Amino acid sequence: MDELTAQGNDEHIFHLRPQTGWIEVIAGSMFSGKSEELIRRLKRAKIARQKVQVFKPKIDNRYSHDHIVSHSEMRHESSTVETAAELLSKVERGTEVVGIDEGQFFDAELVNVVNELAQRGLRVIVAGLDQDYTGKPFEPMPHLLAIAEYITKTHAICVRCGQTANYSQRIVEVEGRVVVGAADAYEARCRRCFVPHADAPTSHITEAAD
Ligand SMILES: [Zn+2]
Repeated sequence: MDELTAQGNDEHIFHLRPQTGWIEVIAGSMFSGKSEELIRRLKRAKIARQKVQVFKPKIDNRYSHDHIVSHSEMRHESSTVETAAELLSKVERGTEVVGIDEGQFFDAELVNVVNELAQRGLRVIVAGLDQDYTGKPFEPMPHLLAIAEYITKTHAICVRCGQTANYSQRIVEVEGRVVVGAADAYEARCRRCFVPHADAPTSHITEAAD
């Protein structure tokens, strides 16, 4: 009986301890391993038996509707949401880690939502493109980078010269800021090899973002 009481007290003390949340951002160009790094962190959290929830925006129909998938075919189950507000409403009681893929396709409200979750004591990990194909910062990622406790910048390798690549070079002519799921439409380029418009158009891709 004494033992039970003691355990109860311990638990009580544990819950009184302030839980600190934080924001991690994994940002980089296409083919830099962002989703792979996100999935790696989520898998480690699950091994530690933490309650993990993963979200992706509806725009990303690449490969799988209920998983986030890296170019190297690593995958993790996920929920698809249309807005940042919907994401917030779907975070369940007891969730300790929230993963978000393709952060650049969310609305500006994602910044507030991520802040809110971290304030509640959750660990929030957001992966996304930091620049569009013209080299411009891709909202809302720049805001997330500004408020994150931890930032990981991932790099690819320039297909032209082998240097570290920080840009997503669009290589076909297509309307819209992004060509979703059309990995063939892009290649990783370094600063010197990058040209901020479609380079050497070879085909016309119609599955642009809608
Ligand atoms: Zn290069």
